[in-house]
Amino acid sequence: MSSLKRSLALCLTAATVTTAVVAGCGTHTNSPAPLAANEGGWAAVAFSTPTENKPVVVHYKDADTLTQLVNAGVDVWSVDRHAHKAKVVLNATQGSVARKLGMKVDLMTAREATMSVDKGYRTYEQVAARLQELATSNPQIATLVDIGDSWEKTQGRANRDLLALHITGKGAKGTKPVVTFVGGTHAREIATPEMMLMECEKLVTQYGKDAEVTTAVDTRDIWIVPMVNPDGHAHAMKGQSWRKNTNDKDGGHSGPGIDLNRNYGAFWGVNGDSGNPDSDVFRGPKPFSEPETQAIQKLTTEHVPSVYMTFHSFSNSVMWPWDHTHDINPDGRMKIMGEAMAKFSGYDPYQGSEMYLNGGDDEEWVFQNLHSAAFTIEIGTWGDGFMPPYSKIAQFWKENSQMMSYALKVADKPGR
Ligand SMILES: [Zn+2]
Repeated sequence: MSSLKRSLALCLTAATVTTAVVAGCGTHTNSPAPLAANEGGWAAVAFSTPTENKPVVVHYKDADTLTQLVNAGVDVWSVDRHAHKAKVVLNATQGSVARKLGMKVDLMTAREATMSVDKGYRTYEQVAARLQELATSNPQIATLVDIGDSWEKTQGRANRDLLALHITGKGAKGTKPVVTFVGGTHAREIATPEMMLMECEKLVTQYGKDAEVTTAVDTRDIWIVPMVNPDGHAHAMKGQSWRKNTNDKDGGHSGPGIDLNRNYGAFWGVNGDSGNPDSDVFRGPKPFSEPETQAIQKLTTEHVPSVYMTFHSFSNSVMWPWDHTHDINPDGRMKIMGEAMAKFSGYDPYQGSEMYLNGGDDEEWVFQNLHSAAFTIEIGTWGDGFMPPYSKIAQFWKENSQMMSYALKVADKPGR
């Protein structure tokens, strides 16, 4: 048993006894309202302390009630918008909010709640080394670009650069439609850096061999950022349910970090986030307060994407703006493209606001500010969780590589 496997086994054992592996969702000093007995499944959810976090499935009425729960700082793992149920993590205070919103509840099973990293998932160091290798052995089409520092690097605590692979072939750089793929914003969503790295490998190694790849590389300016949040990823690789970056100066103490996907400058703080630094959806002290979101802002502003795709997990979804309002987005490109992508992947296509309302994410920011066709992809089914067995990767790749190929194909005229 490797030392990694051993520590995961310990995690698994711990998780069946407590939910210690579930990262903090907030300290609230006010004591929770006592929960009445056995109503809507709540009797089974006994909080032993006000700060204890319970992974549960809530059954909610509509997207607006779920939004209100997120506004209480609740960490949503996955949503089944058709069945009106969501996997969330609640403390006692948030449990009271959910009750007041009329939600019924089931406990997540130990298996659903447990974080455990299977062999095969690559660390930041392995991802960085592979990107370097691809660039070094294929300099005519691939360049490794340091687009910024992680928060820990800015503090002198770690040495993690934020890395992008820039892939483009014949033709002048800067004159072709730009396509940008981004993964690993939320640390524990460990399938997403794998998808990004596999796309890098495909484009670089199949260039000159596969006609479709060759055309894409020659006619597009492709930027792939496999891991936006490498500091958080290092925690996730230890089997921790880590969502945010690791900024413990502005972020909380029981739940350090800022939710990078609530830190972007479009509709920041409007909905679906929290001002509580301990919450897993803490939006940060101001828009673009974090080096990770600043790096993506700079990259996309300097190389404006025609198509931008950001990869998360898990809900098998293709989503597009708006996220902060139920108003139907008047720009029809995203619906056309999102529905086409759904045909390739089998995922559920919809405007992001149909899940719940939130502001401050990257997809809405690039759409609002750069007019890119922008998508958030949620990889994995309700049962897959954040850290599925590595054997699931082959299927995820089949679903996601086809969506990326489509995006590359139509980037000269998105929505055609
Ligand atoms: Zn995510």
